[in-house]
Amino acid sequence: MFGMLGNIIKEQFRSTKQEQEISSDDAMLIRMDDKIHNFDNFIHPLPESKPRTPFGSPNKDGKKRGAALLNVRELFTMLPTALTMTINMQRGSNLYDGKFVPERQRVTDEFISTLEENAYELGVKDLKYVKVPRNAIFQNKGIPHEYAIVFTVEMDKEPISTAPSFDALHEVMKGYKNISVIANKLVHFMRNTGVGAYPGTALGGTTDYVHLAEIAGLGVIGYHGLLISPTEGARLRIGVIYTNIENLPVQSENEHLWVRDFCAMCKKCIRKCPVNAIFDQPKPRGDGGMQSIDHDACREYFDQNYTCAICLAVCPFSQVGYDKVKERFKGNPNAPQFQIPVGEIAVID
Ligand code: SF4
Ligand code: SF4
Repeated sequence: MFGMLGNIIKEQFRSTKQEQEISSDDAMLIRMDDKIHNFDNFIHPLPESKPRTPFGSPNKDGKKRGAALLNVRELFTMLPTALTMTINMQRGSNLYDGKFVPERQRVTDEFISTLEENAYELGVKDLKYVKVPRNAIFQNKGIPHEYAIVFTVEMDKEPISTAPSFDALHEVMKGYKNISVIANKLVHFMRNTGVGAYPGTALGGTTDYVHLAEIAGLGVIGYHGLLISPTEGARLRIGVIYTNIENLPVQSENEHLWVRDFCAMCKKCIRKCPVNAIFDQPKPRGDGGMQSIDHDACREYFDQNYTCAICLAVCPFSQVGYDKVKERFKGNPNAPQFQIPVGEIAVID
């Protein structure tokens, strides 16, 4: 059995395979990413692009990790969600066969309205558009088109508030599953009208989805490294569809940057992180954006504790919501100003 379902089962026996250098989830994602080589031309990253953070830890010390720590009840609760997600990710990956030939690259306002109506009916919470900057494409990866539709789905407050727990992990997985289903349906709608469309994988992905969501204007990256949006706070997952549509209503302003001024004062996620993996002061990362997480420090705890998510759960934006935080916030003129530039243009090599 392929993918996450197979991986869950394989992980149960993983402690006997200490020689494995990458997790089975990462191996699955790399196989999907590599389908970009079915294209004669695709968009490459810049030399300074970041590598993708591995999804799972290398299993070099024999400790059980991730799915291997689930008990039988949890495993059977998780399987339908993981199976649906894996099947849909595989279907999405199969669309990267290099065979679809778009008939057009411009659309009408009516197309955009119908696309958005379909998306909201399928469960999308918010949706915007972006011209993908090449520095958001991960090292050694590629994308088929230079534009993207970026959308969010919500995760429920109650299970997320129990993080780290199985219920919170299951809610996160449901978010990924929903993204995989929605992305495929929207891609089929788009292709049926003659435009190019490819789903980004729900897990992993060849671009930095949080980065894309911020420059699309869906929200802003908080000090916990996650997107904070006006619709779901930080309780969201992000999906991406790459497309050749060149007249998408891309916006250039982000009205949510005040959130980072609030972060500079709040720092609750930093205090609550059990392994001090969130930097007390985010580091400038060279493109105007910020690096706020020590991923190596996070990963061990993340893998051993239902993928953790404490930083997501304790964030005031997850708990009381965007509007209430905004209403009470009086501003913070001393906050460091980080802002990913919006106007970069992707170029086909
Ligand atoms: S917990 Fe506070 S500092 Fe951390 S991301 Fe949320 S608002 Fe920002
Ligand atoms: S997921 Fe957990 S360990 Fe990782 S940064 Fe957030 S709170 Fe810290």
